[in-house]
Amino acid sequence: MKALVVGGGLGGLLTAARLVKEGHRVEIFERLPVIGGRFINLDYKGYQLTTGALHMIPHGSKGPLATMLRQLDADVKIIDSSPLSVLRIPENGGFKDISFYDFSSPLSWVNRLKLFYLTFKSRFVKPADGSFKDWFYPFINDTWLVKLADAFCGWSLSMRSEDVAAAEMLAIINNMRRYGGPGVPAGGCSAVINALEKIILSGGGPIHTGCQVDRILIVDGRAVGVEADGNTILGDVVISDIGHRETVQLYDHPASDTFREYMVAMESIRPSAGIKICLGADRPLIGHSGVLFTPYARRINGINEVTNIDPSLAPPGKHLVMSHQALQSDDILAEIELGLKDLEDIFENEQYEVLMVQTYSDSWPVNRAESGSNLDNTTPIIGLYIVGDGAKGKGGIEVEGVALGVDNTLKLLNI
Ligand SMILES: Cc1cc2nc3c(=O)[nH]c(=O)nc-3n(C[C@H](O)[C@H](O)[C@H](O)COP(=O)(O)OP(=O)(O)OC[C@H]3O[C@@H](n4cnc5c(N)ncnc54)[C@H](O)[C@@H]3O)c2cc1C
Repeated sequence: MKALVVGGGLGGLLTAARLVKEGHRVEIFERLPVIGGRFINLDYKGYQLTTGALHMIPHGSKGPLATMLRQLDADVKIIDSSPLSVLRIPENGGFKDISFYDFSSPLSWVNRLKLFYLTFKSRFVKPADGSFKDWFYPFINDTWLVKLADAFCGWSLSMRSEDVAAAEMLAIINNMRRYGGPGVPAGGCSAVINALEKIILSGGGPIHTGCQVDRILIVDGRAVGVEADGNTILGDVVISDIGHRETVQLYDHPASDTFREYMVAMESIRPSAGIKICLGADRPLIGHSGVLFTPYARRINGINEVTNIDPSLAPPGKHLVMSHQALQSDDILAEIELGLKDLEDIFENEQYEVLMVQTYSDSWPVNRAESGSNLDNTTPIIGLYIVGDGAKGKGGIEVEGVALGVDNTLKLLNI
């Protein structure tokens, strides 16, 4: 089989590497001069910033992405965070940090019992349609729980708890129990991309960079090729790493009911938007390799300090700290100001340099489709599949969802 892959981000490269390992031919088209999309290092003053991700793999060395990388013999070492995460909560006019495992300690005993009941019940009863907040808040009317849920959803999905479907969030919680907490690939995001590139090239590739796909060719309802840089390239399947919305703009639409339904379903897909602020410091600001959740901040949802795992991600003796906040309004400058004010409060009396502020939305978002979106890896076109964070697997946070979606696509291809 020959697969044509539109987009050389993590989703496209993972799929291509899996296909190559199974003896299939692949050809990858990436419009940018480099591959890796939103998952590569960006060298700035010797700090390894990124084009997107916070260098974290949500379920570390035991999750779906790590498992897939191991199966591929990819040369990547993922080091798990310790502690998993820490929560900053108010105390006596100041703040203190508590372990994530003690997240229920600020709740009253009655609310702790209610939470236990709700969680236990969720193992047997499917949640009603509605948001994660709708799932717990009417029963446990506690502001702390809302703040915590918003910080977690903001950090890991760039969403608010009232916007994430309850079923998706419960699947995410189950995956956290199953696979554990986050980790960082030694060398950062690019280490993963470089390892996948090596596997693909060892199978013959080719990977074309600076090469945009302008059309997907459809004959009798089946994808048969692509047009890129004025050339026509034929293949047996087309795998698109650019999401349902962007992909559908690349081909002629069939006049079928199935296709009309598909277009209606696509209206519900929204990209998630966020802001990342990167700081450099002479001494550790957090001091551990887990996520510091900041539920009481105005905008910042969480912060990490990846140099506690891999010091090479900053110049010698320096530390790289990255915060993330879900975008809460269209006034991006005001949102950035609020994020910067939060950091001044969180790191009061500390010295740091703001290295870069990066905003993510629209066609370069945090996720192409918000978590819990209804569209999967298939399209109404035979032989056309969607991978990447525009079609994540259920309960998969970020790149774990990308890996689950790739796995599902390979199953659809009977591989
Ligand atoms: C601020 C931020 C923080 C994040 N933090 C984390 C994190 O810590 N952990 C985590 O797991 N995930 C994180 N993510 C999410 C993660 O980065 C993405 O989910 C993942 O990188 C998406 O990969 P992808 O392959 O789906 O898409 P992309 O990386 O966007 O790849 C798609 C590629 O297709 C190319 N392309 C588009 N159109 C065409 C065309 N017509 N022809 C050819 N090429 C085309 C693009 O240039 C791009 O390179 C974060 C994202 C952001 C933005």
